[in-house]
Amino acid sequence: MAKFKTVASFTFPIEAYLAKGRLEVEGIPAFVAHENHVWANWMYSQALGGVKLQVLENNVEAANLVLEKHLKGAYESDLDSEFPDIEENHCPQCEAKQYESRLSLFSLITVLLTFGIFAIIFPLRKKHHKCRECGFNWKY
Ligand SMILES: [Zn+2]
Repeated sequence: MAKFKTVASFTFPIEAYLAKGRLEVEGIPAFVAHENHVWANWMYSQALGGVKLQVLENNVEAANLVLEKHLKGAYESDLDSEFPDIEENHCPQCEAKQYESRLSLFSLITVLLTFGIFAIIFPLRKKHHKCRECGFNWKY
């Protein structure tokens, strides 16, 4: 009977599914395990080692080679040729790609209240940005 081995662990299921997609493109069948722990209780998921990406035992070496390249960004140039219309985030005023992102005060207060009342922690998205080149502020 074939056994699955964990080749990588991720904080969020989307990261695991991106890596799974890369493995499958390379012809290595993969399986995402423990993703439901994130939805049930994010902190338990962290305690249990996160979302796991597993492959069959005989594919571990090939999967590790692909994942090493994937995590270093070796396949990013493939995206440019596949999807040339996708723009990178940049400053809307000067088009610089170097900017800082931060949480809004509203998001911070919401997190503190939800954690304090419901004991729930959820990842936040930084929506406020400041350009390092021209100092322009924007949000999305
Ligand atoms: Zn700018």
